[in-house]
Amino acid sequence: MISENLKRIKSELPANVRLLAVSKFQPLERLLEAYQAGQRLFGENRPQELAAKAVQLPQDIEWHFIGHLQTNKLKMVLPYAALVESIDSQHLLEAVDDWGQAHDKVIPVLLELHIGAEETKQGFYEEEILEILFNADKYAHVRFCGLMGMASHTDDEEMVRADFTRISSYLDYLRDLFPELEDFKELSIGMSDDWRIAVDCGSTQVRIGSAIFGPRV
Ligand SMILES: *Cc1c(COP(=O)(O)O)cnc(C)c1O
Repeated sequence: MISENLKRIKSELPANVRLLAVSKFQPLERLLEAYQAGQRLFGENRPQELAAKAVQLPQDIEWHFIGHLQTNKLKMVLPYAALVESIDSQHLLEAVDDWGQAHDKVIPVLLELHIGAEETKQGFYEEEILEILFNADKYAHVRFCGLMGMASHTDDEEMVRADFTRISSYLDYLRDLFPELEDFKELSIGMSDDWRIAVDCGSTQVRIGSAIFGPRV
């Protein structure tokens, strides 16, 4: 049951780690069930689905976008998302900044770092993120809030831990290097199968879908 799953996970999460309920592919009734159990933070990975759910569900839900985002879909995401966690190219970052300028808004984002094994190609390499942050002033309508990452898809716990340790250390390194970026502190790591390891490694927000809602329909 959704409310029991939420309760169980929350009881294990340290108070400083937020729980993003990843509701992609789930019908509205199941999101409402989570909402009624007190959940207010939801994550979606498809622009159209996010927009449709955001207009139909209660307005006090905080939506995060966690999927691959094409620049022609910004208008379905940016009006609704409190945080875009999945910025994975400079082209996208520039488009988000332009949208923010046009709408007189500052868009909070995470930069997605490529940490997993080869099959997951999404995300920046370390040096690309460095270059962006050295030029952070160029993006006046973006607020850099931290890093997001996905560990290798494997049962090998040590490999997952190595991925999470790498991104966590990199966040520390960047915070030392760019102390003027005061909001750059979030570390979005951990999913249904690996969130406990992520919490060990310094996660500030876990993104959990199937362990809350069951298999995606
Ligand atoms: C689907 C998804 C999740 C949640 O996955 P589960 O294994 O169901 O917890 C987390 N992060 C991203 C980016 C996702 O696409």
